[in-house]
Amino acid sequence: MKKPLIMTPGPTYVHEEVRRALSMEMTNPDLDLNFYEFYKETCDRFKELLYTKNEVLILSGEAILGLEAACASLIEPGDKVLCIDNGIFGNGFGDFAKMYGAEVVYFKSDYKRAIDVKGLENLLKENNDFKMATIVHCETPSGITNQIDLICPLLKKYGIITVVDSVSATGGEELKTDEWKIDILLGGSQKCLSAPAGLTFLSISKDAWDKILNRKIPIVGFYCNISNWKRWYEDKWFPYTPPINDIYGLRAALDRLLEEKDYVKRHKQIAEAVRKSLIGAGLKLYPLDGFSNTVTTVDLPEGITFNDIFEEMINEHNIMIAGAFDFLKDKVIRIGHMGENCREEKIYITLKALDHVFRKHGVKLEGEMHKLYAEYR
Ligand SMILES: *Cc1c(COP(=O)(O)O)cnc(C)c1O
Repeated sequence: MKKPLIMTPGPTYVHEEVRRALSMEMTNPDLDLNFYEFYKETCDRFKELLYTKNEVLILSGEAILGLEAACASLIEPGDKVLCIDNGIFGNGFGDFAKMYGAEVVYFKSDYKRAIDVKGLENLLKENNDFKMATIVHCETPSGITNQIDLICPLLKKYGIITVVDSVSATGGEELKTDEWKIDILLGGSQKCLSAPAGLTFLSISKDAWDKILNRKIPIVGFYCNISNWKRWYEDKWFPYTPPINDIYGLRAALDRLLEEKDYVKRHKQIAEAVRKSLIGAGLKLYPLDGFSNTVTTVDLPEGITFNDIFEEMINEHNIMIAGAFDFLKDKVIRIGHMGENCREEKIYITLKALDHVFRKHGVKLEGEMHKLYAEYR
């Protein structure tokens, strides 16, 4: 059976070049000094992707490890943390902070819109004694990208450490870690990088290192303890054996992306064409603004269930699309156009299949989605 075309907002398609890199012959990564150089070069290439001079680390664990490691390493019991929340991931970040003893204050913003920067500015005028703030770059379930270029500099004005979950945006949206004053930027291998799930990368600023290394109470745990990595290169010692093949794969994926240079433009153009096509066919996008360039979330039309769409897309067309979870379960459909899935031909056949499924179920469309797409792309 031919593998389905996976058009979900992560994990994404893994290119053959990456799959080949995953199967390269391996060495003992703890003892082979060449591997330390390879790991370092890979971190340096990440600095190019993230536009940062800060140190970058690649940790062995899915992107959630990055969120948890940032919280575990920065937060001491009783610390005040501002959780900036306009969606499921934004809200969940607060739970991680609480797990490590933070006193969390939520700044809630409309779940259908990008974070209200003016509102945040007003809150900070009154209340700003936070040690750190958590922000999600792209809210993947709702398809909303937040203006971290405005939010992080605003927080830093008050000396607040900025921790950004950019898992579904890095490699697809514009990102200037240093210029935008992001202390910890974290991402994962399986979204726009289009490598297999299992690795997280993060950049750590000097301010963040200062907080991590000068705590009153030691960091609880080992895997999430970023301070264990402080001297990995000087001492030629990894806190645990790195998953060497996954890192080979991630490097190949990163090289592919950086080689292209115009990946942000590609994501923007394709995302705009997808949105126009869906609107042109009479469908309604879930967000009211802040439309993501890596995932599009559209309201489920009347008269059809998400399960019908999912099953028919897979069974009849061999294409996998996603719904969402939590309060968005059975309310929306999501098309991922991130990384290797952000290619014209893949979007065209996905929209053509979706158009077919909708019509079969009596959904009234005002235009053929794939034809509109061919026009708008
Ligand atoms: C994918 C993603 C993660 C990682 O979550 P998983 O559910 O483990 O894939 C974290 N944050 C965001 C914003 C994501 O899109």
